[in-house]
Amino acid sequence: MLLTNEQLAQMKRQLQVRRDELRVLIKDELSAAGHDHLVGQVHDSGDESTMELLSGLDIGLAEIDARELADIEAALDRMGQGRYGECIDCGEAVAVARLQSQPAASRCISCQEKFELESVSETPRL
Ligand SMILES: [Zn+2]
Repeated sequence: MLLTNEQLAQMKRQLQVRRDELRVLIKDELSAAGHDHLVGQVHDSGDESTMELLSGLDIGLAEIDARELADIEAALDRMGQGRYGECIDCGEAVAVARLQSQPAASRCISCQEKFELESVSETPRL
């Protein structure tokens, strides 16, 4: 682990603040989209269930925020397991500077680039 306890505590705070912001945002966006009946469910549900709840609904922004929320919840989970800062693909340490700018980053830069390339090129290849 390359992160000091202080850095870790700071990132944890950042993640928690952003998580709370996102929960409020998602509720607002759901209300605005006329999905008030879902608002009460977002608060208590975890990341996976929030995504499940929102999938298939045409709620654009709320879905993007829910995805970010899921990333944050996952980062906090990894923190709880003492695995925060490890790339979920290769297991190498994620650069501290990267975590500082994106505390929810789950991959090192090279795995993230590979991942994005793969998700972009999902169209059939010749
Ligand atoms: Zn990696």
